[in-house]
Amino acid sequence: MNQARRRRFLQCLLYASGATIAGGWWPAAVLASSQTRVQALRTSMDGEVTRLVFDLSGPVDHALFTLSDPDRVVIDLRQARLTGELRLRDEAKGPLEGLRHATRNDEDLRVVLDLSRPANPRSFLLRPTDDSGHRLVIDLQQEGAGTPDASPAVGEERPRSREVIVAIDAGHGGKDPGAIGPGGTYEKDVVLAIAKRLEKLVEKEPGMKPVMIRTGDYFLPLRERIRRARQNHADVFISIHADAAPDSRAQGSSVYMLSERGATSEAARWLAQRENEADSRLGAVPISDKDDVLASVLLDLSQTATLEASNTLADSLIGEMHRVGKVRRARVERAGFAVLRSPDVPSVLVEAAFISNPQEERKLKTAAFQQSMAEALLGGLRDYFSSHAPPGTILAENRRGRHVIQSGETLSAIASRYQVSLTQLRRHNNLNSDVIRVGQVLEIPRGG
Ligand SMILES: [Zn+2]
Repeated sequence: MNQARRRRFLQCLLYASGATIAGGWWPAAVLASSQTRVQALRTSMDGEVTRLVFDLSGPVDHALFTLSDPDRVVIDLRQARLTGELRLRDEAKGPLEGLRHATRNDEDLRVVLDLSRPANPRSFLLRPTDDSGHRLVIDLQQEGAGTPDASPAVGEERPRSREVIVAIDAGHGGKDPGAIGPGGTYEKDVVLAIAKRLEKLVEKEPGMKPVMIRTGDYFLPLRERIRRARQNHADVFISIHADAAPDSRAQGSSVYMLSERGATSEAARWLAQRENEADSRLGAVPISDKDDVLASVLLDLSQTATLEASNTLADSLIGEMHRVGKVRRARVERAGFAVLRSPDVPSVLVEAAFISNPQEERKLKTAAFQQSMAEALLGGLRDYFSSHAPPGTILAENRRGRHVIQSGETLSAIASRYQVSLTQLRRHNNLNSDVIRVGQVLEIPRGG
């Protein structure tokens, strides 16, 4: 394996986040007492993503890694056996060339996907719904996919890198005003203002692209918010809110992430009870954040895969929000917000300040505070992606000492950005002129 390939391999491995960061198997929701049956495989294409869905008799522990020369994705399912047929549909193959499987250690199932080209895999478990049982989903994102605005340059060797997608979710909206401050300020309005400022900043940030979940004053159910994030292939999801408390002195910001495994049985019972009320509440006007989101929360323990990433994202945001003011608790809080229930997208919920505190209510309305909060969130995103940029993204390339040229950039601007001389940059990349193409990848000389 050559150096670049080895690096990509390691990165793919890392990007399968939970697995390697946690250093082991992705735990299933419930430990199966006997083997899980793998009953069928379905494949589908959505844009550049090829999706494989394994239908299972129950939850399963799994691990996933990639190999190159030739390109393969290996999925190990612990304590599992095949009872159905795994056949690839010709019309939904994407990079899939073939599929093999074998029993391992007498009790585990290994599935190997043979690929015609490298792809970035992501996996997550889904719990049963009305019309489906337990499922293991593998998404194969074509490497370098997702930059639609630049036309491919002739003679391009490297696959084009994409921007990371930041889903920005302004809480509440329309008939749901969110919390209302003592001075009559609506949470839905101030959080939309912060979201719009963050959108502008992310738009300007090289390698990042914003997706606004709500752009105006209308109501969106929580599930719809998650669906929009998924549909746009979000890499992270930030829901922006303002807090409220009976004590008007409560102040500061907080960052919440999804609750972790191991909720107490009492909490589990309570949540399960709320869950039953969820459907009837969907679309209803929530009284407050907590009531609304907790009512529709599911104790879905299969989401641990992205918890580690969500945790890092939350830490990054908190680190930056300290600059704006007091962060109510200087650690990540894990709450069961339904809006964070996106098993495949690292998600956090930010409470910018307490709208129930008259002083903070006034602050929330000022452009200065809204802007500082948006800047802090951008800083947090930068920090997060400096260590968690998915492979195949511009930010991941940049981290590896490479720069992917974007529209409007000049060689001299790039040189000054990396504090290297124009000559150095030219020589390092064997360039005879200053003509560069969008999507072209430059190696940045070290220690310039
Ligand atoms: Zn809220």
